[in-house]
Amino acid sequence: MLRRPPDARPQARRPARPEAATRSRARPSSAAAAPRRRAIGAALQLDAFLPADRLVTDPGELASYAHDEAHGAPHAAPLAVVRPRETADVAAIVAHCAERGTPVVARGAGTGLAGGANAVPRCVVISFDAMDEIVEIDAAERLAVVQPGVVNEQLREACAQRGLWYPPDPASAPRSTIGGNVATNAGGVCCVKYGVTRDYVLGMEAVVRRGEVVRFGRRTAKGVAGYDLAGLMVGSEGTLGLITEVTLRLRSVQAVERTVIGYFDDLAGAGRAVARVVESRVVPSALELVDRYCLRAVDEWRQMGVSDRGNVLLLARCDAPGLAGDEEADTILACFDAAGATESARSGDPDEADDLFTARRLVYPALERLGAVLTEDICVPRMRVPDMLERIDRTAAEHGIYIATLAHAGDGNIHPMVVVPPGDERAGERGRAAFAQIVDEAIAAGGTVTGEHGIGLLKMRGLTKEVSAAVLSLHRGIKATFDPAGIFNPGKVFSWDG
Ligand SMILES: Cc1cc2nc3c(=O)[nH]c(=O)nc-3n(C[C@H](O)[C@H](O)[C@H](O)COP(=O)(O)OP(=O)(O)OC[C@H]3O[C@@H](n4cnc5c(N)ncnc54)[C@H](O)[C@@H]3O)c2cc1C
Repeated sequence: MLRRPPDARPQARRPARPEAATRSRARPSSAAAAPRRRAIGAALQLDAFLPADRLVTDPGELASYAHDEAHGAPHAAPLAVVRPRETADVAAIVAHCAERGTPVVARGAGTGLAGGANAVPRCVVISFDAMDEIVEIDAAERLAVVQPGVVNEQLREACAQRGLWYPPDPASAPRSTIGGNVATNAGGVCCVKYGVTRDYVLGMEAVVRRGEVVRFGRRTAKGVAGYDLAGLMVGSEGTLGLITEVTLRLRSVQAVERTVIGYFDDLAGAGRAVARVVESRVVPSALELVDRYCLRAVDEWRQMGVSDRGNVLLLARCDAPGLAGDEEADTILACFDAAGATESARSGDPDEADDLFTARRLVYPALERLGAVLTEDICVPRMRVPDMLERIDRTAAEHGIYIATLAHAGDGNIHPMVVVPPGDERAGERGRAAFAQIVDEAIAAGGTVTGEHGIGLLKMRGLTKEVSAAVLSLHRGIKATFDPAGIFNPGKVFSWDG
């Protein structure tokens, strides 16, 4: 029987919004910080157009904006952090930085796992946490207009109150922002059926080039005027400009979901079950995989009883209405059984089903309690999932480490993770070597080096392996058009000249 944790909401070691916890210290009341703020403000002359409480220069606070949650990605202390309230502020800061050649790094909530929001030397970090207004929810047109600092879950809740649904649901939804989600093209649990962030971006306002405010895309259900520049901004990881407002497509509220669970002895068995579901042509609204290391870490932390029943858990949901939904659930159950599930069931208890998905969301913070977590993010064709999972097991054995595996299995998006206990850097080295091999194998299997986390700083080598020199050269041309001063998140995603 599943045991519910004391607080079933995902918790992380860090505060929900790291910046929020320290924000009050940024205010002018900090007498010690004032002279330094004046000095840096004067050097950058940002204080000429920004009130003091929009500017952070205290070294202690700057450190909390220096990096995201990716372990092992390089970062520097920013020269200053600005927290604009409106687009005009962002445009003025960009124009100012472009004139001086000062790098600008955009930051949402800093939950990224690729180093995308990491500060680069002598940069200004633009933190969007104060641009957090839901400007409009139009139920008839089924769209929302939001500022970039709106937290994903807040938007989803506001939509739900109006009978609407914003589907993209990264596991970081309680903390990550829409701006960060758009800039990384975030995925999540329901993407197997409902697509990723890109599928919900209709248009946006952005600050590009040397401070120009532009609007890309549209508010209409259809529209093909010009190149898809809004689409180009999606997943651009802050390298093409700064997103200051987003127009998002919404759906009607989701139908009630049925949950199917299956426990398997090993990753290979669970992988075969995933392939069977794909072959069955049922498209579940979620198909997630959680291995024994992840289940154990959750139980060690929250005692939920999820690791008692088997080694690898597959969690599926289907949301077709009425009898069709029942048939889908039965088909998935049959797939699990045919692949050798040691236990399988349709969950009749919605609380139990929710708790299992909560356990899945708790995996990352549960592993973080044990050490720094190195995370991979490969995505392979769905029919290659069983093969890839076996390769991950083999690679772990070859390198003498254990690899915890979590997957949006229905998308073929696999997250192998290595926990590096404090002081055990050798585990880190072995983990990185194992990941290099896994990434090469994913590419060889027709996959990609990143399914949802982005390239940032950690996957730049992988990108050069995945795309041709000609395609990288097109990237550079686009970058030069959007960012002639070379100030937006320099040194990320791909190198400028190499
Ligand atoms: C526990 C946990 C679970 C996660 N689960 C998922 C998951 O299921 N799916 C998934 O896709 N990711 C997941 N992630 C990764 C991360 O949450 C996503 O990449 C998320 O989209 C980042 O949002 P953020 O607001 O934290 O952005 P940040 O980390 O602050 O920034 C991410 C990137 O976007 C850029 N950026 C931010 N705001 C703007 C803006 N306004 N304009 C231009 N560029 C901008 C930054 O420069 C950076 O390159 C997870 C992370 C954690 C820690």
